[in-house]
Amino acid sequence: MNPQLAEVVEAAPGKLAAVQSLEELDRVEAELLGRRSVLAQLQKAIGSLPPEERPALGRDLQQARATLVELVETRRRALEREIADRVATADRVDVTLDAFRLPLGSRHLIYQTIEEVCEIFVSLGYVVAEGPEAEIAWYNFDALNTPPTHPARAETDTLYIDFGDPATEPLLRTHTSPMQIRWMEAHRPPVAVVVPGKVYRADTIDASHLPVFHQVEGLMVGEDVRFSDLKGTLAHFARSFFGPQTQVRFRPSFFPFTEPSAELDVSCFACRGGEPGCRVCGGEGWLELLGCGMVDPNVFDAVGYDPKSVTGFAFGMGVERLAMVRHSIDDIRLFVDNDLRFLRQFP
Ligand SMILES: [Zn+2]
Repeated sequence: MNPQLAEVVEAAPGKLAAVQSLEELDRVEAELLGRRSVLAQLQKAIGSLPPEERPALGRDLQQARATLVELVETRRRALEREIADRVATADRVDVTLDAFRLPLGSRHLIYQTIEEVCEIFVSLGYVVAEGPEAEIAWYNFDALNTPPTHPARAETDTLYIDFGDPATEPLLRTHTSPMQIRWMEAHRPPVAVVVPGKVYRADTIDASHLPVFHQVEGLMVGEDVRFSDLKGTLAHFARSFFGPQTQVRFRPSFFPFTEPSAELDVSCFACRGGEPGCRVCGGEGWLELLGCGMVDPNVFDAVGYDPKSVTGFAFGMGVERLAMVRHSIDDIRLFVDNDLRFLRQFP
């Protein structure tokens, strides 16, 4: 046999035995049989040999190729078995081991409540939107018909962010209502949107106040939207959330951005109306739930809607309040204490 070929064939078993992966085997195979191999070079050179020497080299090449292919394939089969064995050993299950349990958490009651509220409104055709928590005064106050003299704008109530430029007055939104403005600026009527999210107030922490809490805002605007639509929608919401027996009551109220405005109360689900000493309603028979009203025409002016052609209603509810009323939770701080004994009651 051609000495160069003999050398390659002789060295091949050692090289192949050292191979430990299929990728490595592919490299060695290319080295032995590929375009740059000794075999390929001799194959190319065969044309330049004298005619009488060609058949001998041709035979040698054929024989060497067959031997090398056989060696490579034998190693490949062995390697595949080795790899399968390695995997099987690594994956072997020890059935005597104790089960490995991954403790699974659950969504916080506040987020469960937000989800449930949004689902009720989505079933009525509303869309869910979120807005920025850092706002400018225009969206949080001015466009919502809240004049510069309004007490809510004072630093004792609102958390302002000091970037050194009082003209833009950045602040942490005190309600989810700014998203009413942002949504109407970006959409033509009719609109039906609910906005869940965090809101911020300069409040001192006590059993019923946190400086950060959650609201769900709602807005419906279109032609001929009436107060009766507001009542029907919110009564449907109250019954979906607290149960079909729930009664609702609207009391006159005031908000700068709605006219007329109302507070919605629901009948106490625990005593069903005025049991003296009821620990849920304190014997009142009613539970305060949310604020609502017909969108003030000045708000429509601020977003470029024509108050003569569209009307609408808006409502805003505190999520912590909803959860506290429904589950008789008497201290809002429980939501942020991260006490598992509390959280585990709402899996
Ligand atoms: Zn009651």
